Amino acid sequence: MIGLGVECTAHTLGIGIVKDGKILSNESETYVTNKGGIIPVEAAKHHEKVFDNVLERALKKSKITLYDLNFIAVSIGPGLPPCLLAGLKKTKILCVKYKLPLVEVNHCIAHLEVGKIAGANMNPEAGSPVMLYVSGANTQIIAYENGKYRIFGETLDVGVGNFIDNFARYAGIGFPGGPTIEKLAGKSKNYIELPYKIKGMDIALSGILTNLKQKLEKKHKLNDLAYSMQETVFAMLVETAERALAHTGKKQLLLGGGVACNSRLQEMCKIMCKERGAKLFVPEKQFLQDNGAMISYTGEIMFNKKIFEKNLDKIDIRPRERTDDILVKWK
Ligand code: AMP
Ligand code: MG
Repeated sequence: MIGLGVECTAHTLGIGIVKDGKILSNESETYVTNKGGIIPVEAAKHHEKVFDNVLERALKKSKITLYDLNFIAVSIGPGLPPCLLAGLKKTKILCVKYKLPLVEVNHCIAHLEVGKIAGANMNPEAGSPVMLYVSGANTQIIAYENGKYRIFGETLDVGVGNFIDNFARYAGIGFPGGPTIEKLAGKSKNYIELPYKIKGMDIALSGILTNLKQKLEKKHKLNDLAYSMQETVFAMLVETAERALAHTGKKQLLLGGGVACNSRLQEMCKIMCKERGAKLFVPEKQFLQDNGAMISYTGEIMFNKKIFEKNLDKIDIRPRERTDDILVKWK
C-alpha cells in the first residue's frame, strides 16, 4: 500500500509519501515574508507554483512514480480557503489522471495520528494520549473519548502561533515570528509580569497581546518581553494540558503543531509530565510543523478502513471543520 498526502491548509505546501505506515518522504515549501503576515491569496499562488517541484522531490526520494500509488490524501480543512482550494485542485487533477481515490483528511487530526510515529500509543483501550496541539491558527487540548477526538480546552480568540507571530510582527519581525522570538527569549531572565488568562479549561490571548504591545511602546526590552511572554503563555498551556491529563486519567501527553518546536515549551511539558508520572511524546520537527507526511499517514489509516468519498465531484474544502466534527470511524 502506497499513498501520497498533500498538506495545504496555510503557509506550507507539503507532500509526503507513506508505505504501510512508514514515511518514505516528506518534502515541503513554506511561504515566508520578511515583513508582515500571510496573505492567503499569495500563499495559494505560492503553493500552486511550487507543487510540481515538491511532488517531484517527494517521488524521487521515495523512489516511486505516480503509477505506484494506491491513493492520494489531501487536507480539506481547517485552513485558509485559497490555500485549501489550491491543494484540492492539484490533487483532483492527479486523481483523475492516475485513476486514484482521494481521501479527505482533517489537518488537526493528522497532527494527532502522526504522534504514533513518535511512539505514542494511539489505542483508546491503552489510554490514548492527551494532545497539546499548538500551531498558527489552532490551539487545542484534545483527547479521544467515545468515537471522537474531544476538545477539552482551546483558545477563546487567536491561536498561540498567530499570537506570537502578531507580537513579532509588531516588533518588526517577519513571518514566522516564533523561532526568532524563542532566540530573543533565550537572552533574558528578566520576568515582567503579564496577565495570566485561563477561563475554565480555555485560554485567552488577545488581552496579553495588547498588553505586550503596550509594554513594547513603553520601551521595555524585546528580549525581556519575549521571555516573559513564553513563561506566561506556555505555563497557561501546560496548566490546561495537566488538568486534561488529571481529568481523563490518561498517562501520555503528545505535542503537535509548529509552536511545539519551541524548546522552552517542550521543557515545561517534560517537567509537568515527570511530576505526574506521565510520558511525553514529541514528534520530530518535520512532523510537528505542517507537513504532507502526516496527511499521507492519516490518509492510509482511513483508506485501509475504506473511509473515503468515491465521487470526486462531491469532495470540497471544509475551511472551518473542527476536530470534534469528525466521527473517528477508524478506531
Ligand atoms: P503550524 O501552523 O503548525 O505549521 O505552526 C506554525 C506556527 O509555529 C507559526 O506561528 C510559528 O511562528 C510557530 N513556531 C514555529 N517555531 C516556533 C518556535 N520555535 N517557537 C514558537 N513558535 C514557533
Ligand atoms: Mg498545523
